[in-house]
Amino acid sequence: MTTAVYPGSFDPTTNGHLDIICRASKIVNKLIVAPLINLSKVHTFTMDERVEHLKILTAHMPNVEVKPFDGLLVNFARNNDAKIIIRGLRAVTDFEYEFQMALANRNLAPDIETLFVSTSVQHLYLSSSMVKEVAQFGGDISNMIPSQIKNLVLEKFSKVV
Ligand code: ADP
Repeated sequence: MTTAVYPGSFDPTTNGHLDIICRASKIVNKLIVAPLINLSKVHTFTMDERVEHLKILTAHMPNVEVKPFDGLLVNFARNNDAKIIIRGLRAVTDFEYEFQMALANRNLAPDIETLFVSTSVQHLYLSSSMVKEVAQFGGDISNMIPSQIKNLVLEKFSKVV
């Protein structure tokens, strides 16, 4: 059985994240989507909110589990019997950081492989920070985040439509 972990901030989950989740869930037996508890990063959405969004979005995917983590990713992967770390790659700007992380994780845990899933072209320039920037100024985020969580995300910016 192949288990993979897809870690991230998911602050909030975008169409780009969901695309990676859908595609990765088809190539492994079990996918653990793992929102990161990062004390040095200020998140817009609480952990409970980020987990709620992810659970709503993956409710129909039987092999996807949502499980927050903190500490070292490779330890979390090991504790969950995951041999694969999934990361999404957008433009070249992602590459250096992602490559550095993958090498660091391989150094720590040679038995765990990082697998990069390339973005779909329509999500190339989509990020959580872009969603937040557009939402806070009342812009339309309909084509950036899944419709099931749109109101929950907009509520945060007091712009429910
Ligand atoms: P992090 O803070 O770990 O970068 P993010 O939630 O921003 O967390 O991203 C989690 C993962 O999802 C990263 O591998 C990132 O490159 C990927 N990702 C983010 N947005 C997209 C997108 N639009 N298309 C594909 N992958 C994406």
